Amino acid sequence: MEGETTKTSKDSKLTSFNHLDPSRQSLHALRDRKRLSSGAMAGTTQVVKGLLQISLGGVNAFLIDDGELTLIDTGLPKSDDKIVAAIESTGKNVTDLKHIIVTHCHPDHAGSVAALKRRSGARVYMHPVDAAMVRKGESARPMSPSPGLLRGLMYRLFIPKTPQPIEPCAIDQEVNDGTELPIAGGLKAIHVPGQCAGQVALLWPRRRLLFVADACANMPTFGYALGYEDLEEGRKSLRKLAALDFDVAVFGHGSPIKSGAAQKFRQAFAS
Ligand SMILES: [Zn+2]
Repeated sequence: MEGETTKTSKDSKLTSFNHLDPSRQSLHALRDRKRLSSGAMAGTTQVVKGLLQISLGGVNAFLIDDGELTLIDTGLPKSDDKIVAAIESTGKNVTDLKHIIVTHCHPDHAGSVAALKRRSGARVYMHPVDAAMVRKGESARPMSPSPGLLRGLMYRLFIPKTPQPIEPCAIDQEVNDGTELPIAGGLKAIHVPGQCAGQVALLWPRRRLLFVADACANMPTFGYALGYEDLEEGRKSLRKLAALDFDVAVFGHGSPIKSGAAQKFRQAFAS
């Protein structure tokens, strides 16, 4: 499990690898050494200056350190310890977390928002359509698999057939299409319905970076997310993202694209 690499002490790390096969053990060890040597905690990677990607076992959360801390997405329920460990690995405390932006209501993104709000006292931001879901502890609407054999197969493997409840959470501020949050030099919300009706992507002009959320994914390859509530609506949202100006893209699922990202969006989705 990816999440087990987030243990910090050497002993607990060795123990946690006992059940893995030897080739996986050495792969994990190599990856950890690489990350630790660059100063980042295992399970976290620096995407650009002031931005950590936190791997939470299949889904990513993001931590912006701009003096004050901002978290984008919160992983599945019970991910709060891993996220707090990632915060502490930067030398800060959970109470330095001032803002939590949840991109949409799905359980792998909103699952730990209530726990993290409780532990940090941070202000929570969401689009009104999905804020209404999270306030009630609801996490999904009906979806259909994306086109293509591989995505269809992965959808059946990974997307739960019945919606998983999450702990309800108060949402402090609703963000709409075009809302500019005065966070980290400015974060602009872009409403991207389709995969999830109340989803927002976030444009961070200071770093020429787009937080894509699950509007599309870079897993298994760059393209559609595994499933959509409304694929046509999702395509429209992706054309909207393709018209924006950015170099770097980070995803809820998959690795970042570190350069030429807007061009890739245009090639894949502009028409
Ligand atoms: Zn997701």
